[in-house]
Parts: sequence; C-alpha cells; structure tokens
Amino acid sequence: MKAPRLEINLNKIEHNTKTLIDRLAINGISVTGITKSVLGSADIAEAFLNAGMTSLGDSRIENIENMRHAHLNATMSLIRSPMLSQVDRIVANVNTSFNTELDIISQLSKSSLKSGRIHGIVLMVELGDLREGILPKDLHEFVRKVLRMPAILIKGIGTNLACRNGVSPDNKNMSELSAIADYLESTFGIQLDIVSGGNSANLDWALGNKHPGRINNLRLGESLLLGCETLHRRPIDGLHTDVFTLVAEVIESKIKSSRPWGTIAQNAFGELPLAIDQGSVAQSILAIGRQDTDYLGLIAPKGIIIVDASSDHLIVRSKELLTIGTQIPFQVNYSALTLAMTSPFVEKKIVSHAQL
Ligand SMILES: *Cc1c(COP(=O)(O)O)cnc(C)c1O
Repeated sequence: MKAPRLEINLNKIEHNTKTLIDRLAINGISVTGITKSVLGSADIAEAFLNAGMTSLGDSRIENIENMRHAHLNATMSLIRSPMLSQVDRIVANVNTSFNTELDIISQLSKSSLKSGRIHGIVLMVELGDLREGILPKDLHEFVRKVLRMPAILIKGIGTNLACRNGVSPDNKNMSELSAIADYLESTFGIQLDIVSGGNSANLDWALGNKHPGRINNLRLGESLLLGCETLHRRPIDGLHTDVFTLVAEVIESKIKSSRPWGTIAQNAFGELPLAIDQGSVAQSILAIGRQDTDYLGLIAPKGIIIVDASSDHLIVRSKELLTIGTQIPFQVNYSALTLAMTSPFVEKKIVSHAQL
C-alpha cells in the first residue's frame, strides 16, 4: 500500500459527531462542524452530515468551494474574516461569514447587492483571548452602521476563546456574550438566531451547564475528529481518539553512534543540535518529514521513539532494527493532522465501514 498515507475512519467520525450533537442538544446547543483541519474534505463533511449535522464551517473559501462542488446539503459558514480580495467568491459560495470590520462588511454588501443576494453575517466579539473580535464597547456603534447596509443580515454573534492565549470559556465570559445578545436585540429590535459560544475548548463548560443562557451553538472541529476537549486535551468519554492513523515506511535501518562527529554548526532548520551520547543505537529512517507533518505531534507505537526529523526524513530509535519496507502507524495530534491533510505527498485513505 502507498506510503506515507493517512487512514481516516469515517465511522468513528460519525460516531463522535452524533454523540456530541446528542449531548449538546440536551442543553439546547447546536453544532457547526468545522472542516478547516481536514482541508474541507467532502468525505469527512459527509460523515458529519450523516451524523445529523446541518451546518458546516471553514476558515478558507477554497475548502468551502470544494465542499460546494460535492453538493453537500448544508449551510456553509466562513469562520475567518473575509479578505477584501475574495469578497465576490465568498458572497457566491457562503451563506454566512464571520466578521469584525465595517470596511469588509460594506464590500460584502455591495457584492451581494450586485448579485441580488442577501449575505448573512455573525459578528465576532472580543472577550479576552485577543484574536479576532469587535470590542464590546464598540458594538453598539458597529451594529448601528451595519443595519444601514442594504444586503446584509445580522444572523447572530459569536466569540472565540482559547485559541491564542488559552483564555478559558467560563460562566463570566459566556454570560457576557448572552447579555450582549439581549442588549443588541432590545436596543435595535433585531433577532439574533445564532449565539455561538466557541470551539472545542467550550465543551467542558457547555456539557456541564444545563442553563447556557443565550448560547445556542458551538463550532466544533478537533473534538469531533480527535475525540478530546482542547483546554487540557483530555479524551471525551465515549468518543474515539484514534480516527486517524498516519503510516510511514522504513527506508534505512542501521546501528549508528548516537553522537555525531565533525565540527557542529546549524542544521537544515537553523537549530543547533545537542546530541546526548547514548552509545550505539538502532536507528531507522522513515520516508516522511517536516514537509508532510508536525513530527512533534506524532505518537509512535510502543517500542519506537521519535528522535528527530528533517524535511523528508523521520529518525526513530527502537530496540531492534526495523525491517526495510515496514510501514509504521502513528497517531496524530491536531497540528500533525492538519499538515498531513495538507501535504500532497500523503495519500488520504478512507478505511472500510466495517469496524463499529
Ligand atoms: C478553528 C476554529 C474553530 C474550531 O476549533 P476546534 O478547536 O477545532 O473545535 C471554531 N471557531 C473558529 C473561529 C475557528 O477558527
């Protein structure tokens, strides 16, 4: 079989998705499936939909266009602020985009007007993580101006925490978002259908909270795909954490010294390697590298230790020498997954539906 390859178990994705949709529904929260880490894979998006999802989101218009071409029956959200240079493509392919800048919303309005459409927006609110978001004190004026734009419909508000500074969702910031929704509705006489509380980092809060206030949506990617929450990367009860397996092939296997010799300077990545002398070791090279994945995010099978990687080579040690041609399976974290999905050298292989 081709290597390197990323094996993707769609049944496990479907199971994870259905489980979280059902658990969150009890507290009145819907799920938007986020596909950015899997390059807008239509197969994976379809697994989300088979589990009962009706709304998909991605940060990149190319991925959304890819899913549109597959004729998936779902509403699509662009969850990163639109680029001005992509406004027409976004209006043509996206139901709702997430926004924080009046200049961009104004162009979305012009483009929508030209093509006879209404474009939905969700306004992202800054609640402390300091990535995207309108400051709460500026929202009143912001909304007042948006309401004068003819082809724009404010569908809701949202926030994103824990992505940059690890700020955790809690009762305080979630109540603040609820209060903002109430304030905007009563002040402007509008209706906010979506109050999107956050991403996979919100699960502890949302699952443990029978009364989530106005929060009625989460945007989930990693938890559906890797089966964990993302504040502490704890596995979620009842979810599969082994949906993806990255398989790479052994191309060299030799007993070598663990200590390099010669005059030591920078390596290929500008790092100054510090080798610890452990005598002679069984060192193998696998044909996958930093161009294909984040080697620090790989979990090797028992008995194999990852020691290093260059662009095209993954260096491992084991007790016995690995046989040339052996294909070794690794588990992946979010970063390793995203890069593997993005590398054209990694074959994407959907594994059979037999295993549930
Ligand atoms: C990536 C992203 C998500 C999904 O995050 P996960 O941690 O994968 O659940 C949700 N919302 C926004 C705005 C994002 O950028």
